[in-house]
This record gives sequence, C-alpha cells and structure tokens, in this order.
Amino acid sequence: MEKKFRTIHKKKSIALVAHDHKKDDLIVWVKQNKDILVKHNLIATGTTGKMVARELGVEVKQVLSGPLGGDQQLGSMIATGEIDLVIFFWDPMEAQPHDSDVKALLRLGVVWNIPMACCPATADFIISSAYMDSEYQAELSDYSAYLNRKIAN
Ligand code: PGA
Repeated sequence: MEKKFRTIHKKKSIALVAHDHKKDDLIVWVKQNKDILVKHNLIATGTTGKMVARELGVEVKQVLSGPLGGDQQLGSMIATGEIDLVIFFWDPMEAQPHDSDVKALLRLGVVWNIPMACCPATADFIISSAYMDSEYQAELSDYSAYLNRKIAN
C-alpha cells in the first residue's frame, strides 16, 4: 500500500481558537510568541480573531464565532488542506453549547494528522519545534478499509 502524506507548509496557516475563559491565556501566549506567529498566516474564530488581531496588530482571517459555526468552518478547512496547525485552548471546566462542534474539530485534526495544541504547554512545544521553520510531511492513516466497508454494505 502506497503511503500518503499531507504537506505541512513552511509558511503555515495557523488556526487559533479559545473558549471565553481561556481567551486571556491565548492572548498571553500569542503575545509571547508574536515574532514567530507573524511569519505565518493566522486564522481564527470570530471573537478570538478580533482579539488576536488587536493584540498583534496583524491581519487575522476571521471565520464565524465558534458557537455560530466557526469551529465547523475550521474543521472543513483542515479537511481541505487549508490549515496546517491548530492552537485551540478549550475550556475543560465548562460545557459549551457547541460541544459537538468542538469534538468534530478535534476529531478532524486527528484524522488529518495535523499538530494541534489544546493547552499552553503543548503550544510551547509546537512553537519551539524545528518544524515551525520547515516543511513537514505528515503521514496519513489509511482509511480505505472503512470506506470500502461502507460501499460494500
Ligand atoms: P469565538 O469562538 O472565538 O468566536 O469566541 C470560540 C469557540 O467558542 O469555539
């Protein structure tokens, strides 16, 4: 079986999302890592995007607010190869009205094997990785057995 890969680009498209109680943490993190982040394309859910753009003074592509479909938009962009990396500070202490969308976004990050940080420590490890400054080939799992089973049924 031929291996398949997803190219994670040198200049990355980085998705940023933070739930309301985690927005302050994300803003601290983006300010600490501004010099690296500004070299890449930034994409964010609505409110997070406005805050990041204001803090960093750079362009941030904004999709809808998370509860209004923004998480699903980001998930769709992961599936079509428009997002290379996700920094998603979700709130482990509070149920969200769009919990199913949150789960879907995290799931697609795993399906497409892209780096995804859900807490500042992981985000620090990712942002300090040598791969931040180079292309990386992420090997894709072979899901053809699942798809063939569906067709056979
Ligand atoms: P927000 O959405 O950036 O618009 O607040 C984040 C989320 O709740 O997923």
